[in-house]
Amino acid sequence: MGSLGIHNCLGLAKAKNATLMIASTSEVYGDPQVHPQTEEYWGHVNPIGPRGVYDEAKRFQEAMVMAYHNFHGLDTRIVRIFNTYGPRMRLNDGRVLPAFIGQALRGEDLTIFGDGSQTRSFCYVDDLVEGIFRLLHTKYHLPVNIGNPDEITIKDFAEEIIKLTGTKQKIVYRELPENDPKQRQPDITRAKQLLGWEPKINRAEGLKRTYAYFKSLSPDELKEVDHYNFDKYIIK
Ligand code: UDP
Repeated sequence: MGSLGIHNCLGLAKAKNATLMIASTSEVYGDPQVHPQTEEYWGHVNPIGPRGVYDEAKRFQEAMVMAYHNFHGLDTRIVRIFNTYGPRMRLNDGRVLPAFIGQALRGEDLTIFGDGSQTRSFCYVDDLVEGIFRLLHTKYHLPVNIGNPDEITIKDFAEEIIKLTGTKQKIVYRELPENDPKQRQPDITRAKQLLGWEPKINRAEGLKRTYAYFKSLSPDELKEVDHYNFDKYIIK
């Protein structure tokens, strides 16, 4: 999907002489051995692991976009989006924030995968949108990281959610999915210099806004977890 789709989009953009921007991802860095991740880092992806199809499709997208830019002169942008959160995330998409908040609101224990020492850096959606908007209005064709460098372990993140929601539930530990990146933090020097951009909304404020949304959902809406099966992570 990601790789076939981009070829069609690039063909169309070329025919119409359009500008094309792709939403790439920090997943192009895989389980990174360079920290924080700068745009110069080529990444550390397992092509045949469970994340391989997604990660390699995004890498292929970047390769195709650069080739169309260099060969056909197409006007392109590449934004590498790091973990983002905010109101209206789907509860059941498996990502950690809706998982934890959904669990807290339903009175379930919070599921940490692995020992929780892996890190992520969460960017509030409004900051991300502003960064993307600014990049689109440049003529810069190389990839640009957009994310919030404020890094936190998943264990500490779970504690923050427990405090925020006031849940009396506990943390339970589940098996770490294969090839789960150990650490992730964007180096946003390029975005700062190029776009004069940096995140404005810190995690405390962003989580407050996001929690207000999830709290407004009805009990039925909060139950929408059926197609995500947490049992598969239970350590036997
Ligand atoms: N995670 C977790 N419990 C959950 C869902 C996710 O501990 O219920 C972990 C997951 O293993 C990963 C981190 O939280 O280490 C972020 O996961 P997410 O899927 O949100 O983002 P990604 O791994 O794509 O950065």
